[in-house]
Amino acid sequence: MKRIFREFYFKNAEKVEIPSRFDRREFGYTPFEGGMIRHLAFKEAGEIKALLVREVPRSAFYSVSYYLEPSFQMMEKGWIGGDLAFDIDADDLGLPCKMEHDIWACVNCGLREIGIKPEKCPRCGESKIDEQNWSCRKCVGGAKEETIKLLDILMQDFGLMKKEIRVYFSGSMGFHVAVESKMFEEIDQMGRNEIADYVAGLGLTPALLGIYPQSNFEELYRKLPTVGEGGWRRRIAQYFNKEEVEGYDGVEKNGREKIAYIYKTLGYSKFKKMLEDASRKIGVAIDTSVTTDVHRIFRLPETLHGETGFLKRRCDDLFRFDAFNDAVALGDEPIEIFVDISPRFTIRGQSFGPYRSERLKLPTMAAVYLIGRGVAKVP
Ligand SMILES: [Zn+2]
Ligand SMILES: [Zn+2]
Repeated sequence: MKRIFREFYFKNAEKVEIPSRFDRREFGYTPFEGGMIRHLAFKEAGEIKALLVREVPRSAFYSVSYYLEPSFQMMEKGWIGGDLAFDIDADDLGLPCKMEHDIWACVNCGLREIGIKPEKCPRCGESKIDEQNWSCRKCVGGAKEETIKLLDILMQDFGLMKKEIRVYFSGSMGFHVAVESKMFEEIDQMGRNEIADYVAGLGLTPALLGIYPQSNFEELYRKLPTVGEGGWRRRIAQYFNKEEVEGYDGVEKNGREKIAYIYKTLGYSKFKKMLEDASRKIGVAIDTSVTTDVHRIFRLPETLHGETGFLKRRCDDLFRFDAFNDAVALGDEPIEIFVDISPRFTIRGQSFGPYRSERLKLPTMAAVYLIGRGVAKVP
């Protein structure tokens, strides 16, 4: 795998996207031999590309933050600011296709199977079981929908412009979104936490909409959200506008009538519950800890993902982006491997697997996909 990555970087290091203000950012990488090297800093973009060719990392990263001294230890770096970063991972969506492609492994006896991990190993009874998440087209499609929701919030609610937002396929399970904007870069951890909660729709209570159990109906009615407003009030009104509500036969205009009906007939606590469901569905399935963490490192764009051999890839046209085509960087040259276990997967329109304890020849792109996941090796 290292040989294949070396060949790739030898030919393609020039295409690696060097982040803006790179001389203020920390870089790091994981070598194939294991471990993690961090706190690297570069004055020239060429040095970053040279590192990829020379060291051939399994995975390469850059910091979302900018520092006075990016090569110093974390506490001494001198934080200046950072991109606003979002991570959307298909695994968090809990899609049913997980059953078709996730793999679990018993820590004790090593039994590996495809599917959702059991409580206990059926062979030895061990309860410590590792799981490995794989992704498929449906997973990436689900993550894409979440990303589209995120972009809507960033532009509509935060007033960001498209050119301030960079969207990437992560190279494996989902999407990374990086916002670079003067207005946001100095926001501290607390502020980023607020932004993450807002985007995810966490903590949205009736009180935040101006609805209290003690308010009388006329007072309440005036405070209900409508589709003509902005932000979450618009989203809530739109959601209820579309939602089928038993017994409601009014003609809906702005969303307010139906919410009023729900509140009046079902009562405060039922309404509160419905609002919680709504905010979970409307909110974006981001990993909030990524947005909050100002010391986070992200995979370097246009470098290979060490577990898939796919590229972390810029998505200028997110709607048309197809990860299993557009992020495939390695070629077709056949490699002989031994596969322990693999679900069915598709790369560049070619279907592979499922495999179980087989020796076979696969195109480089498929062989690396399995070796990277740790389910195959070169015999
Ligand atoms: Zn076992
Ligand atoms: Zn899937």
